[in-house]
Amino acid sequence: MQDDEKCQSCTNTECPSAGAGKRTTSEFEERRQLAQRLSKIRHKILVLSGKGGVGKSTVAANLAVHLASAGNSVGLLDVDVHGPSIPRLLGLQGSPVRARENMLLPVQYSEKLRVMSIGFLLQHQDDAVIWRGPMKYGVIKQFLKDVVWGELDYLIIDSPPGTGDEPLSVAQLVQDADGAVIVTTPQALAISDVRKCVNFCKKLSLPVVGVIENMSGFVCPGCGRRVDIFKSGAGEQMAAEMGVPFLGRIPIEPGIVEASDEGRPFVAQGSQASKHFEQIARRIVELRGRPMSDHVTAEAQLVRIAVPVAGGKLTVHFGHAEQFMIFDVDRQGRRVVRSEVLPAPEHKPGLLPQWLKDQGVKVVLAGGMGTRAKDLLAENGVEVLIGVPSQVPSALVEAYIAGTLTTGENVCDH
Ligand code: ADP
Repeated sequence: MQDDEKCQSCTNTECPSAGAGKRTTSEFEERRQLAQRLSKIRHKILVLSGKGGVGKSTVAANLAVHLASAGNSVGLLDVDVHGPSIPRLLGLQGSPVRARENMLLPVQYSEKLRVMSIGFLLQHQDDAVIWRGPMKYGVIKQFLKDVVWGELDYLIIDSPPGTGDEPLSVAQLVQDADGAVIVTTPQALAISDVRKCVNFCKKLSLPVVGVIENMSGFVCPGCGRRVDIFKSGAGEQMAAEMGVPFLGRIPIEPGIVEASDEGRPFVAQGSQASKHFEQIARRIVELRGRPMSDHVTAEAQLVRIAVPVAGGKLTVHFGHAEQFMIFDVDRQGRRVVRSEVLPAPEHKPGLLPQWLKDQGVKVVLAGGMGTRAKDLLAENGVEVLIGVPSQVPSALVEAYIAGTLTTGENVCDH
């Protein structure tokens, strides 16, 4: 019997995952398909912003082009239901989307870069804004599930702006994303929105890869001098305050507007902005596999990591763990200070997340976990890594500390 089937047919009503079995077969099938599609993609990076108009899509498009030109196979997914602008930014407006057996085939931008945008499916650019909430969720889910990417090194997801239901849907559906790149501009208002964005990620246990301050100063096209139109540096200060990495600044450059309007990525221009951007993209690649998100490490000298165990190894069925192996890790020395084995508490709905919180656990390494348990843990400030392989817990924690832990799909997602 498959793991999925075991959980589906389980009659233990006291299990924290109880109720998941009531999901309809089609919901299970959809989730399975989504997990299967995403499992072929090595790195998934969400590009978020606290509000629209700050350059989120420009960053997403240029990051994808940069990664592809470095030899990676890259997908760029535009699920910004408020205004999908990726087709315009890459000069792909009106590109026909081909479908095969109810699946959507992405548009080939270059040999290494494939693109899919909600914009390709709209007759008029403005159609998106009149969609109602549930419809937007359905479109986002379908897009993630139905696009055939094949194997990819990176999937860059241009998410809807803000911290509302739409980016929430994206973040929840892409459960094992590497993290989020947050784009802001330096004005105080944008900064306050980006604070919300960082908190949004923390609540969802979505690691923050870092913050980019876009439109940071103006580079005069005549003399090349830089003028700070808005106060620059606020993004960096905010990132430091909130304990998330700062990735760098991109100045306002008229060439970016021209390039965007003509459907050309600015990253290849050799301008000041493109040089800044290349450095930022390099940092994103470095930080992407960061072992611990800074917001966890900044809060305490020791970080408690829990691994659900059965038969001496990580069990993929989080709710059925016999024991929890708990490790205290010194964040500076990056080493395990002590470890202990605790018997798992009795199986009662919602008990496990609270119990882990009471043990002071900040990070859980899990093979599979349902949305409900993950949400409860996120509410309790516990970060969860899903898709961790079933191996000896100490080896997993060592790999986690070293930043070499590789994760797969959510093997038991309820
Ligand atoms: P968002 O996705 O956040 O709504 P966009 O990426 O669509 O924002 O960018 C909004 C506009 O700002 C576009 O016309 C884009 O060309 C322009 N833009 C973005 N970044 C810069 C920059 N650094 N300098 C000049 N114009 C920029």
